[in-house]
Amino acid sequence: MDSAHVENDLVNVLFTEAQIQERIGELAARIEHDYEGQDLLIVGVLRGAVMVMADLARAFARHVEMDWMAVTSYGSGTKSSGVVRILKDLDTDISGRHVVIVDEIIDTGLTLSWLTSNLVSRNPASVEIATLLRKPEALQMPVDVKYVGWDIPNEFVVGYGLDYRERYRNLRDIGTLAPHVYS
Ligand code: IMP
Ligand code: MG
Repeated sequence: MDSAHVENDLVNVLFTEAQIQERIGELAARIEHDYEGQDLLIVGVLRGAVMVMADLARAFARHVEMDWMAVTSYGSGTKSSGVVRILKDLDTDISGRHVVIVDEIIDTGLTLSWLTSNLVSRNPASVEIATLLRKPEALQMPVDVKYVGWDIPNEFVVGYGLDYRERYRNLRDIGTLAPHVYS
């Protein structure tokens, strides 16, 4: 769906579908350059990273393997619980492999900092992080992120995989959710 379909639920549109596609193309080009001649596995963090993974993978002009993990971080609200648990593990043995974790947003950093150490303990050749969005003001754990689409203010955003109570994931754009929706 488009922003026009949920107009009253959004304070603003932060990034349009076209802007997102352009930025993802740039990130893909950088990753392609950095891993030239090397085997690459990208790991998507379910469920939010589905859209980013689909577009990033297709933006590559090279082979890339895709795998998925599901971890808990949020319940159904807008605040991070800080509790991380694996709901679905990788199907791939990553020892000796180059891995890029792909997420749609880094908020407190708790999820990705935990996930990175978890993957590093499996002896991969390397682990880097790519995220479309990051909220620098919300960061509680230092996370070394190599590929960032945009830094955004500490507000709750939806669309392009990002949900509020499982809604808005299928919105093409990314927008700031109006407080009246969650209060
Ligand atoms: P973190 O562990 O606090 O960095 O949060 C990680 C996860 O929380 C993200 O992968 C999202 O699923 C969710 N999240 C954080 N901020 C937002 C937001 O503004 N909108 C929707 N989901 C969010
Ligand atoms: Mg997520």
